[in-house]
Amino acid sequence: MMPFVCEDVGTTKRRRMTPTRALKAWENTGGVCVTCDLRIDGTKEDWFVEHIRALELGGADDDQNIGPAHLERCKATKDADDHSRTAKAKRNKRAALGIRPPTRLNGPGFQKFAPQRRASTPLSKPLPPRKLAP
Ligand SMILES: [Zn+2]
Repeated sequence: MMPFVCEDVGTTKRRRMTPTRALKAWENTGGVCVTCDLRIDGTKEDWFVEHIRALELGGADDDQNIGPAHLERCKATKDADDHSRTAKAKRNKRAALGIRPPTRLNGPGFQKFAPQRRASTPLSKPLPPRKLAP
């Protein structure tokens, strides 16, 4: 039994993983992991089909862009690397388009209100006359 794991989850539209595609992925590299370049022992080690260039980085979802990768050792590493590269690519694109994160508020800020009357300031109008007690 070949310990192949179908890791076909994600939001990106991608083709179904079939045993035929899995074999194609394996044959693309001759059983060499696309992440660490070490040979995968397909009889002992779990592996899955990985996109050599991640879909989120513009990799195509075709049979030339897939290869086997170690499930335990290499999946988390490559996912983290892909995500950080994607984030960097997005930052660079934003910078090229002149989109910058706000460094400080440039708006008008809070409106200035007239100072409130305090007990220590003189009255602008005289108080009404006091009514004396009978
Ligand atoms: Zn590996």
